Amino acid sequence: MISSPPEAFVNIRRISAVLAAAALVGWIVHYGALAQTPPVKKRVLVIGQTKGFEHDSVPDAMAAIYNLGKKSGLWETYIRTDTEWITKKKVDRGNAKNLNYFDALVFASTTGELDLDDSQKADMMTFIKDEGKGFVGIHAALDTLYKWPEYGEMTGGWFNDHPWGTFEAPIVLEDPSFPATKHFAKSFVKKDEIYQAKDWSRDKVNVLLRLNENKLDYQKAGDRVHRADHDFAVAWAKTYGKGRVFYSTLGHTKEAWDDPDIQTMYLEATKWVLGMTEGSTASHAKTPLP
Ligand SMILES: [Zn+2]
Repeated sequence: MISSPPEAFVNIRRISAVLAAAALVGWIVHYGALAQTPPVKKRVLVIGQTKGFEHDSVPDAMAAIYNLGKKSGLWETYIRTDTEWITKKKVDRGNAKNLNYFDALVFASTTGELDLDDSQKADMMTFIKDEGKGFVGIHAALDTLYKWPEYGEMTGGWFNDHPWGTFEAPIVLEDPSFPATKHFAKSFVKKDEIYQAKDWSRDKVNVLLRLNENKLDYQKAGDRVHRADHDFAVAWAKTYGKGRVFYSTLGHTKEAWDDPDIQTMYLEATKWVLGMTEGSTASHAKTPLP
């Protein structure tokens, strides 16, 4: 006759099984938590070099990108008013960085021909086009580097006057699904300086915001209006090679940077160029006026 094991032995086996299960749960929780650890913060290089018009809002724009990254915890910002770090060569100065350290580049109302030699220009385009890094152009980022055709190709065009100066700009939302603009109403007004773009076509970008062409004072603008199509984009998104590019003319005034709508737009734009969110870059015809 086979006797059953002593009760104490059974209890030990039960305890062992419970301990093993507990260890397994602990292991899963531990490694599960590791898998959920947020990735290393992205790094953004903000350039505010000016060789032409000097916007009073350059420091506001630079600080806004810094603060948006800090408050969201999503990226670290390095602020420069020179272009030394726009290179893939080693910057031979203690602790200096180069483009290899960064995930996105922001031009904060840069103007004129920046200090970039041919090798720096090639490295900047490799950064965006081949490595798929991001670019955000703020306001006068369109009023710079006219002598570098690829720059205009990357951004989508160049500045060509602001026919109404700073005014209560009537703006239409064209893409209510894009992360940087979905918080805007279908139709709204912002006091800002809206650029007219040249060498620009909506066929090459996803227009997110545009001026309401029916609410503009063409008499007042006179001969400063050069676009026969009256297509005045206020923000757009596009790709350049593997890279994501966002541009908006909003941000001329210092006050614009205190506007939560503008802050949200550049927060979401930076997230998008960093690849944290998705949004279309498909071009489309002008959307009907609301
Ligand atoms: Zn301006």
